[in-house]
Amino acid sequence: MDVRAQLSMVLHLDKCIGCHTCSVTCKNLWTNRKGTEYMWWNNVETRPGTGYPKNWEDQGKFRGGWEIKNGSLSLKSGSKWGILSRIFHNPDQPVMKDYYEPFTYDYANLTDAPESANQPIARAKSRITGESMNIEAGPNWDDDLGGSREYAAKDPNLTEEDRVLFGEFEKIFMMYLPRLCNHCLNPACAAACPSGSIYKRGEDGIVLNDQEKCRAWRYCVSACPYKKIYYNWDRGKSEKCIFCYPKSENGEPSACAHSCVGRIRYTGVLLYDYDRLIQVLEAPEETLVEALKSCILDPSDPEVKRHAKKAGIEPDWIQAAENSPVYAFVKEFGLALPLHPEFRTFPMVFYVPSLSPVLRKAETDMTMENFRIPVKYLASVFTAGNEAAVEDTLKKLLGIRSYMRGKELADKELMEKGISLSGWNG
Ligand code: SF4
Ligand code: SF4
Repeated sequence: MDVRAQLSMVLHLDKCIGCHTCSVTCKNLWTNRKGTEYMWWNNVETRPGTGYPKNWEDQGKFRGGWEIKNGSLSLKSGSKWGILSRIFHNPDQPVMKDYYEPFTYDYANLTDAPESANQPIARAKSRITGESMNIEAGPNWDDDLGGSREYAAKDPNLTEEDRVLFGEFEKIFMMYLPRLCNHCLNPACAAACPSGSIYKRGEDGIVLNDQEKCRAWRYCVSACPYKKIYYNWDRGKSEKCIFCYPKSENGEPSACAHSCVGRIRYTGVLLYDYDRLIQVLEAPEETLVEALKSCILDPSDPEVKRHAKKAGIEPDWIQAAENSPVYAFVKEFGLALPLHPEFRTFPMVFYVPSLSPVLRKAETDMTMENFRIPVKYLASVFTAGNEAAVEDTLKKLLGIRSYMRGKELADKELMEKGISLSGWNG
C-alpha cells in the first residue's frame, strides 16, 4: 500500500444558486493581471449549455485526457504536433473566441443611437481593439440563454430525444455547474508537458505549474480535457488554479469555498492508494467511478494509518482525513460523483448531482421519469453513462429530503402544541 494525501472538494449542486461569487472572488485574488483577463480558474456554467471555453466537452474537437489505444493508456492529444504547435495553431486547443474577448459596454449607444424599429441596446466593445463586437461566448454564456433550443442543442450530453423535447415548457430543466481544476490523480496536463514544469505536490496532491520552467509549449492546454489550464499571452506561461495553497498552508479554505454564498463547497483531505491507482488506470469505462472510489482509503483503518505515518504524512493530515466531509460524501454516503470520469484523469473534485427542481410526484413514486433532470443527462456528465449509479444517488437524495421535510412537519406540530424544542437538534 502506497498511501498519499490529497486535498479535494465536494460541490453540492442542489445548493448552488449561480451567483458567481466564487468566480469573482477567485478572479480578484488570482487573475486580475495583464494576460489573464480571459481566464476564470473557477467558473460557473448553466446547463444544458456549451460551457466555458465553448464546447469544451466536445472531445472530438479538443481531444484532451487519456484513451486506451492498442491496449494501453495514451494521451489523446499533444505529441503529434511537436515544434509545429509553437508556430502554427494546434487544433486541439481552444482559440480566444472559444473563451471570450474581454469587453466593456458602450452605454453611449443607449442615448446616441439613431431612431430605428428596435430599441437601442448597450453594445459590447472590445477592451483590446475598442471595436463593437459580436459576442459568441463567455464564462457563463448560457446563463441568460439557458432553455433556448439553439444553445441546449450544442450540449453534447443531451440525447437526441431530449434535444427535441427541450424547449417545451414542462420539459425544461437547468442546473448550475461550478468548475475548477480537478487536481487529478492522473493529470494529463502534467503528462503532456515537454518541459516537466507541471507537477503534483507530494504533501497535498495540488497540481501546480512551475513558472520558471514553463516554456510556452501549451501541450497542457490541449491535454487537459476540462480545459482548466490557461495560457497567459502576456507572460508566455501557462497558469491554473492553485487550490489557494498559500491559504491551505495556513489552515484556511480556498477563496471559492470561503466566499460561497450557497455553502455548497466542502473541502477535505483524502488518503488514497497510489498502487491501486496504477492498477485501475485502464479500467473499463463503465467501471471508472467505482475504480476511482476504490483508490480512496478508509482513514479510520489502523492499517491505513500505519502506512500513512510510514509514508511521512503529517499526523494532523491523517486526523483531517478522518474528519473529511469529502470522504463522507464520496465513500460513506455514496452521494458525490466525479465530472466526466471517462477522461481518465481521476479527478479529485466531486459533485452531488442536482435533484432539484423535483416533480412533486417523485416523492411518492421514485421512477426516473418523475425526476426533472433526465438521468441520462446526469449520467453523461458524471458517470460515463452509468445510469444506475445516478439513480442510486438521486434516490438517496430524495430519501433525505423526504425525511427532513417529515421531521420539519413533526417539529412544527410539536411547537404548535407548545412543546419546546430548545436543546434538541435531533
Ligand atoms: Fe491538469 Fe487540472 Fe486539467 Fe486535471 S483538471 S488535467 S489537474 S489542469
Ligand atoms: Fe454556486 Fe457558491 Fe459559486 Fe454562488 S458562490 S455560484 S452558490 S458555487
